[in-house]
Amino acid sequence: MIPVFDGHNDLLYRLNAAPDRRDAIWDGTDGKGQLDLPRMRAGGFAGGFFAVYVPSPHEVDAPDFLSQMDNPPYDFPLDALIDHTAGQPVALAQIGHLKWLGRSGALAICKTTAEIRSAMAAGTIAAILHFEGAEAVDPSLDALHSFHAMGLRSLGPVWSRPTIFGNGVPFRYPSTGDTGPGLTDLGKRLVAECNALHIMLDLSHLNAAGFNDVAQISTSPLVATHSNAHAICPGSRNLTDRQLGQIKDSGGMVGLNFATCFLRPDGRESPDMPLDPMLRHLDHLIAALGEDHVGFGSDFDGATMPKDIRDVGGLPVLLAALAGYGYNDALLHKLAHQNWLALLDRTWAA
Ligand code: ZN
Repeated sequence: MIPVFDGHNDLLYRLNAAPDRRDAIWDGTDGKGQLDLPRMRAGGFAGGFFAVYVPSPHEVDAPDFLSQMDNPPYDFPLDALIDHTAGQPVALAQIGHLKWLGRSGALAICKTTAEIRSAMAAGTIAAILHFEGAEAVDPSLDALHSFHAMGLRSLGPVWSRPTIFGNGVPFRYPSTGDTGPGLTDLGKRLVAECNALHIMLDLSHLNAAGFNDVAQISTSPLVATHSNAHAICPGSRNLTDRQLGQIKDSGGMVGLNFATCFLRPDGRESPDMPLDPMLRHLDHLIAALGEDHVGFGSDFDGATMPKDIRDVGGLPVLLAALAGYGYNDALLHKLAHQNWLALLDRTWAA
C-alpha cells in the first residue's frame, strides 16, 4: 500500500463539534464521518494538513446548503467576518484536540519535514497544524507568533468569508474566483510575516485578486492545498489555467480536492459519480504543473466524497484506479506523498 500524505482534512472541526465523544470518534467506535485511526490505517493515510476552522454561526443550516449545492447554478453570499476575540477560543480548542491526538501516541504534530519523515517511517500519523482562515490572528499579528510557537506551520489567510486580511471566494457555480477585492494592507503584512516565520501560505479559499496579491508579495512557492481545475469543473473554488501557470512559475503545488462539487463538471454535490472526473482533474493539473507539483487534498470530514471513495478507507480505491488508468508507480508515489514532502522542504527551509 502506498502511504498518502494529504493536503487537507477537517477532523479537528468534527472533534470540536462533539468533544465529549472524541475518544469514540478517534478509535472508530463512533463509525461516522470520514476519518478515524482504524480507517486511516486501513487506507494508508500517513498524515497531512489538519485544519483549524472557525465555523460561521448559521452552519446548523447545512442540509439546506447541501441541497442547494446539488442544484447548480448556485451563488451563496459570503458569511460575515468573525473577529479574533470570537475566533481565538475556537482555534485554541481545536489545537487542543490536535494536542490530545498527539498524546494518544498514534499521531505526531510535525514542525519540520524531518519530523514528518521520521513519523511516517515509524507508522505514526504525521500531522501539520494548519489554519483554514486567519480568524484567530489579531491585527497586531502577535497571535501569529503565539500559534507558531504551538506548532502552526501552514495558514490560509481566509476561508470563504472576509477576514481583516482579505476576502474569501464565495461558493458560486458557474463562476471564476474573480469575485471581489484582494488582500488588505494587514493581509499583505500577514503574508510577509508568514514568509519570515516559514509558515506555508495556502491559497485555496482566496478570491482571484487575493491570489494575485499573494503571488506578488510572497517569497514562498504558491500552494493551493485543496483545489481543482476550473477547466474541468468551472466553479469559483477551482483554479484557472492562468492561476495554475502562476503556481507552476513559483515552484508551487496543488492538492486534488475529492469534494464532489469541485470535481463534477456539472458542479453538483451528489456522491453518485464515477471516479473518471478525478482522473481528468489530475491529468489537467499534471499537464499544467508537471508531475512534481500535484498531490492530494482530500477534504475528508469537510465534504461529500464520490461514492466509490466514501472515506479515508477508500484511498486504495483511488490509487488502484490511477494505476489502472496508466499512472506508473513512480508517479503514484509522487502524488501520494513525495511531492508534498518536497514542497514543504522548499517552503519551510527557504
Ligand atoms: Zn476548505
